[in-house]
Amino acid sequence: MLRALLVAPPGAGKGTQGERLADIYGVPHLSTGELLRAEVAKRSKIGLDVESFMHRGDLVPDELMAPLLLGYLTGPEPLSGFVLDGFPRTAEQAELAHQWGLASGITFNAVISLDVPAEELVERLVRRGSEVSRSDDTIETIRLRQQVYAKSTEPLLEYYRGRVILIEVDGTGTVDEVTRRIRE
Ligand code: ADP
Repeated sequence: MLRALLVAPPGAGKGTQGERLADIYGVPHLSTGELLRAEVAKRSKIGLDVESFMHRGDLVPDELMAPLLLGYLTGPEPLSGFVLDGFPRTAEQAELAHQWGLASGITFNAVISLDVPAEELVERLVRRGSEVSRSDDTIETIRLRQQVYAKSTEPLLEYYRGRVILIEVDGTGTVDEVTRRIRE
């Protein structure tokens, strides 16, 4: 059963590849960005609380993020497999994921990272901003999201490399090519 974490910079294709992997391996795709955007769209209490962080490209505080995600992961019928896209994004969240794994007897079998050159990431995000109108795909917000990734999220790759479950994949080329590389 696949229990994978996807850790990659904004625009690298986490969402696209996460959905495909979930389909191929028959497990749910849990995207923290999508869960949060759904709350914003519903105008729920948590949605209203997270909206400004997301809009400016900052991370949502853990006290809002963690319970929302855990509600999906655990609950009455805990998921036995999943592709978790967008979590963890900080050392604190990696520790939370570790604790959660210990408590539920679950081990993650892969952390997948996607490598895409910085200039291509900006191009992809600007293009997406004009196509699907995500309020955080503007040039200023993209810059902040990249800085947040470099400072808080990228160091996690070293941590997972040390735990020997990191799979580093070239994220350039067509969507099919990237999926094939991950599966290999
Ligand atoms: P991207 O990787 O392109 O930034 P996501 O859809 O993964 O897109 O995330 C969008 C936004 O959702 C982030 O900028 C952040 O505000 C919020 N978010 C997603 N995952 C997390 C997380 N694990 N912790 C805190 N905030 C998060």
